[in-house]
Amino acid sequence: MDRLPELFGSKVFSDSVMQKRLPHDTYKAFKRTLAEGHALTRELADIVASSMKDWAIEQGATHFTHWFQPMTGITAEKHESFIAPLGDGVIMEFSGKELIIGEPDASSFPSGGLRATFEARGYTAWDPTSYAFIKDDTLCIPTAFCAYTGEALDKKTPLLKSMEALNTQALRILRLFGKTDVKRVTATVGAEQEYFLIDQEVFRRRPDLIYTGRTLFGARPPKGQDLDDHYFGVLKPRVAAFMKELDEELWKLGVLAKTEHNEAAPAQHELAPIFCSANIATDHNQLTMELMKKIAARHGMACLLHEKPFEGVNGSGKHDNWSMSTDTGLNLLEPGASPVDNAQFLLFLCAVLRAADLHQDLLRISVASAGNDHRLGGHEAPPAIVSMFLGDELTAILSALEAEDAYNGAPRAEMNIGVNFMPRFPKDTTDRNRTSPFAFTGNKFEFRMLGSSFSVAGPNIMLNTMVADVLMEFADELEKARNFTGALNTLIRDTIRNHKRLIFNGNNYAPEWTQEAQRRGLINWPSAADALPHLCDEKNVALFERHGVFTPAELKSRQEIYLDNYVKVINIEALTMLDMVSRDILPGILNYSAKLGSDAQIKNSIGVDSALETGLCRQLSLLARQVQDGAQALRQALDQSHTARQYRDNVCPAMDVLRQAVDSAEPLVPTKLWPYPNYGSLLFSVRE
Ligand code: ADP
Ligand code: MG
Repeated sequence: MDRLPELFGSKVFSDSVMQKRLPHDTYKAFKRTLAEGHALTRELADIVASSMKDWAIEQGATHFTHWFQPMTGITAEKHESFIAPLGDGVIMEFSGKELIIGEPDASSFPSGGLRATFEARGYTAWDPTSYAFIKDDTLCIPTAFCAYTGEALDKKTPLLKSMEALNTQALRILRLFGKTDVKRVTATVGAEQEYFLIDQEVFRRRPDLIYTGRTLFGARPPKGQDLDDHYFGVLKPRVAAFMKELDEELWKLGVLAKTEHNEAAPAQHELAPIFCSANIATDHNQLTMELMKKIAARHGMACLLHEKPFEGVNGSGKHDNWSMSTDTGLNLLEPGASPVDNAQFLLFLCAVLRAADLHQDLLRISVASAGNDHRLGGHEAPPAIVSMFLGDELTAILSALEAEDAYNGAPRAEMNIGVNFMPRFPKDTTDRNRTSPFAFTGNKFEFRMLGSSFSVAGPNIMLNTMVADVLMEFADELEKARNFTGALNTLIRDTIRNHKRLIFNGNNYAPEWTQEAQRRGLINWPSAADALPHLCDEKNVALFERHGVFTPAELKSRQEIYLDNYVKVINIEALTMLDMVSRDILPGILNYSAKLGSDAQIKNSIGVDSALETGLCRQLSLLARQVQDGAQALRQALDQSHTARQYRDNVCPAMDVLRQAVDSAEPLVPTKLWPYPNYGSLLFSVRE
C-alpha cells in the first residue's frame, strides 16, 4: 500500500498532470477558460489534445472515445484509434476538434421524440470539468451529448446546468451574509453503492438473472437474512480479493473509494466513496458500477446491481449524500461555530426544507423505475412517501424558532437568529434513523430512495434545481429588505411554519406513518406508474425552464423515455417468465409427476402401498395446472396492456400469481430435477 499515493489517479489526465505537461501559458489559459466558463479556443484545444494524446500513448492507449451518458442511464462510448495515414505509414494523431466535439451516430439512443430518426446525428461535447481518463487502453473523454438542434439527449448536460443554477442563487445568498470572497458554490455528492455478488456458475444457469437482472422465480430458502449474521461480517477471501482489486482500479481512476463492507442480505455488499462535486461523483459512480461488473467476472462472480435481485431478502439501493460547498472550503450545511454561520446555516436548511416539501413529487419521480418499485415501501427501504428527518435537537430548534420561543430554556432574547445558540451535531445523534428517505446527517442530506442501478444524475438534477429555485425566492426577498435581520427572522419562521409537515423523525416503515402522512397531505405514489405521469406537471415545466435546466420539450422527452422504459422492463420480465415456464419449469414439474405416477403404478402392481407417490403426483399435477393457467393469464394481460398503468395493474399482478404457483411447486421437486439453481445455492454461492 506504500504505492497508493502513486497509484491514485495514475490513469487520469488530472490537473497536476496538465500542470506538468502543458506549456505554462496554455495551462493558465486553460484554467482561466474553465473558471470563467468560456468555450475553449481551437488553438488551446489543439495543444491540450496533443498533450493528452502523448500522455495516453505513454499509458498504452491506442484509441480514444467520447464517453457520455445517454438516457439509457448507463454510459456509452465509440472507440476510434489515434491512427492517421502518413505517406505509406501511419502516425498517431488527435486534434483539438476531435477532443472538443464528436459526432456519434445517435439514432439508436432513446431520445423521447426529441430527434426525428432522419436526424441521426448527435453531438458530444467535451466537459472539461471532469478529467479524461484511461480505461481498457482507451482514452475516455467525458462529454455531454445533444441533438442536432442543441437539445440535451443525456444526463450530464442538465446536471451541469442545475449545478450552475444552484451556484448562481447560492452566491446571491452568501453575498447577503457578507461572504464576498466566495466565487463558486458547488453541489457535492457522495454516492454509497449497494450490490450483490454471486458465483458466475449459478448466475449463468438463471435466464431470469441474465435477461432481467433479478430472479423471477424462487422459493424462500431455509435461511435468509434472519440471523443478521452477514451485516458487517467478516469478508470471504474471494470477496475480499474482489474488493481489493476494485479499490485499486477505482483509485487509479481517481475515484475515492473509501469503505467496503458486507450489507444486511447474504451476498450483499456496499461501497462508499469520499464525496466530490456532483458532476464528478456521477461520472465516478458510473465507473464504479461498470468496474464492479467487470472485476466480479475476473473473480468468477457476477455482480448484481438490480434493485431487487431476490424476493424475501433486502434489495439494493444507493444513498445520495448531498450538500453544497464553496470554493473557499465552507460546507453550507455545516451548522458552524459562529452566530452568523448559524443563521446562514438555518437559511440554507430552510431552503432545502421548503424545496423538498414543494417538490416532493420531483424527488419521488427521480427515483421511479420498475426495479425500484420492488423496494420503495417494502420493509428494507424508505417508503414511497418523501419526508425529512432532522433529528430531535434540530427539530426542537426549528420548533422554538417557529414559536418565537426559547430553545432549551435559553433566554428569549437569544432566540433571535444571529445569536449563537446552535449546538454542534455529532453524527451519532443525527444518523440514527435509517428508515427516513431524506435525512439530515450532521452536515449533509442523505437521499436514500435511489435504486442501486440508477445514475445519480437524475436525483441531483432535482435537488440542485429545486433548492436553487427556493434560494432565488429567498434572495429576491432578502435583497430588497430594509432590515436584513428582521426579514431573515420572518423568512425562517414562515418557512418552518409552512413546511414543517415534511419533518418526520419517527419510524417510516410503520403502517401508521402512511396514514399520518396522508393526514399531513404528503404525496404517496407507490409505483413509478403513479409518479412518472407527473413529471411534466405545469409547476415542474416552469421550474426547469426558469433555471434553464430542461426546456419543456426536453422534460417531455424524459417522461416518455422513463414511461417507455417502465413498460419495456416489465414486458421483458413477463416474456422471460413465460419462456422459463414453457421451456423448463412445466416440463420439469410434469416429468417428476409422471415419474411419481409410474412409480405408483409399479408399486401397486406388486401390492405395495403407493399413497405417498399418488398424493405427491396429484399435488404436482394440480400445481402444474395452476402454472399453466397463470402463464395463460399473463399472456392475456400482456396482450391487453400498453400503458405503464396497465402494466402495473394487469401484468404485474399476473406475474405475481404465476410466480406463486411456480414457487409452491419448486420445494416439492428434487433439486436435481429442478431446472435452475435454487435461492439457497444462489445466495450462498460464494462460500469460501
Ligand atoms: P454513513 O453514516 O452513511 O456511513 P458517512 O459520513 O460515512 O455516512 O458518509 C457517507 C457518504 O457521505 C460518504 O460518501 C461521504 O463522503 C459523503 N459525504 C460526507 N460529507 C459530505 C458532503 N458535505 N457532501 C456530500 N457528501 C458527503
Ligand atoms: Mg448511508
